[in-house]
Amino acid sequence: MTRPSGGLRRRTVLAAPLALAGCQADAPQPFDGNWVGASAERGHRLREPRPFQPAATRRCAVAVVGAGVAGLAAARALRMAGVDDVQVFDLEDEAGGNARGHAMAGMACPLGAHYLPLPGPEAVEVLELLEESGLLRQDGNRLVPEERHLCHSPQERLWIDGQWVEGLLLPAARGSRRESQYRLFSQRVAEAVRSLRWAIPTARAGWSEGLAALDAVTFAQWLGTQRLDDTGLIAYLDYACRDDYGAGIQTVSAWAGLHYFASRHGFHAPGDDPTADREAVFTWPEGNAWLTRRLAAPLAGRLHTGALVRRVDALRHGVEIDVEQWATGLGERWLAQQAVLALPLHVAARVVAQPSAALQAAAGQTRHAPWLVANLHVQQPLTDKPGAPASWDNVLYTPGQATPSLGYVDAMHQSLDPTPGPTVLTAYWALGDGDAAAVSRQRQDLLNLPWRTWAARVVGDLARAHPDLPAKTRRVDLMRYGHAMAIPVPGVRGSAALRALAPGASGTSGPSGRLHFAHSDLAGYSIFEEAFIFGHAAGLRAARQL
Ligand SMILES: Cc1cc2nc3c(=O)[nH]c(=O)nc-3n(C[C@H](O)[C@H](O)[C@H](O)COP(=O)(O)OP(=O)(O)OC[C@H]3O[C@@H](n4cnc5c(N)ncnc54)[C@H](O)[C@@H]3O)c2cc1C
Repeated sequence: MTRPSGGLRRRTVLAAPLALAGCQADAPQPFDGNWVGASAERGHRLREPRPFQPAATRRCAVAVVGAGVAGLAAARALRMAGVDDVQVFDLEDEAGGNARGHAMAGMACPLGAHYLPLPGPEAVEVLELLEESGLLRQDGNRLVPEERHLCHSPQERLWIDGQWVEGLLLPAARGSRRESQYRLFSQRVAEAVRSLRWAIPTARAGWSEGLAALDAVTFAQWLGTQRLDDTGLIAYLDYACRDDYGAGIQTVSAWAGLHYFASRHGFHAPGDDPTADREAVFTWPEGNAWLTRRLAAPLAGRLHTGALVRRVDALRHGVEIDVEQWATGLGERWLAQQAVLALPLHVAARVVAQPSAALQAAAGQTRHAPWLVANLHVQQPLTDKPGAPASWDNVLYTPGQATPSLGYVDAMHQSLDPTPGPTVLTAYWALGDGDAAAVSRQRQDLLNLPWRTWAARVVGDLARAHPDLPAKTRRVDLMRYGHAMAIPVPGVRGSAALRALAPGASGTSGPSGRLHFAHSDLAGYSIFEEAFIFGHAAGLRAARQL
């Protein structure tokens, strides 16, 4: 493998501790907090074989298992198709999966997904949803976004060499090698856009030899073959991949690395195209929970939370679904005519009574990145350092190191009140880098190390740019995800197993069975649009089979 010279060194989170400026894990800290959101204990209960004795048996036309974006989209599609007898089950206490929200001191904040770029024309179903939700309106034959839901300016800034600079690219002097490397990458992306098809959802781009070749190597390998090796460019691309895929350029495929740019806004070298607009992004203080809460609302009593689905068995006369109430341990058996499985693939392979070869293969090949999301209640405004003003997305550059930290977003950024005051900063850490053993260690640390250790790491990392943060932070609520999202490692996007599980997403008709798979895992990577469109297609397939 050719590694880009001057690229980032790989390491595990614990091997090289982050600078904990002003905040040591064992030092007394002025803030309190806890683990919040998902419960690892609930999901892990599936590993314990237990006798299941249903206290009741109930019936429905369609059962949707999993109330993340995909499950909620399936339920919506069923409702639109006139199917009301739908029951939705989720093991957590709130719907939304990776797109749930939280609040601290009365301020809304995200627990996971926090933005949705303005979708392109291929994501028809998402565009329809946004129109229905009042986020897009028709103006002649154009769809216009509602400004107040778009990310306010300034959008992004980067902390580097003791100051903030606008945007996320490392500065490049005129005529410097870095500038020419930015330009070369921009050309390579433009060539990829001209010669290959890209789309979101990816299923609508079809598949070709060219895409397969990119899917066969890591992004770092591909960059090496293109002689793209500037430290600044590499740092930016690594950040972009970790931000979208939970793992960096050494881990994800070249297909994934290019898809990030080619399927949306391209890559603009500084000064290349001064008229190029920043990508429009929808965001809300509570993140994408703004969308999932609206999707869940019409379900009312048909949404069963705290409901762990232990077994799904597709039989000749219908589908048996064994559900355990987390709070009481009581079991219920549901008999459905059709079922949508909007679950991560490794969970689906565990609960389905006789998993198909495709499901087993797809589950076996999918690697999930662990993630940590930290919400910091900051009681007083932070004293800002020189440079670019406080932005929605604030990223800290760590020279010469691959850090899991992705910086923070400010939940009060969308507020129309210009007076600085208390806020919630949401910091994201992607922990999917390294080989399977390294990722597993990071997952174990997430599960076993105390809340205080992780909180101190996050606060210490941000204190590099905000030395007054530790003293002004009152509370740190942490959400840990052991298996947050599929990492698009080489070979996954083109895998026949994934295609076999989701025939409907590309517009073709699906199989005539009773189980319909829907989850962002089916795309090999995780974003709202993929989850929603897989869910929508699965809901329509289930409706057609009734
Ligand atoms: C930290 C983080 C940040 C992200 N940021 C963004 C972003 O800004 N924009 C974006 O587009 N995407 C983002 N994503 C990607 C996000 O995963 C997708 O946008 C989308 O929310 C995935 O939805 P899903 O339905 O495919 O999966 P999930 O959210 O994984 O939903 C699966 C559901 O199944 C439930 N479940 C699992 N097992 C069982 C069981 N046995 N019984 C019952 N229920 C079960 C789970 O509780 C969960 O609710 C982010 C992801 C993470 C983790």
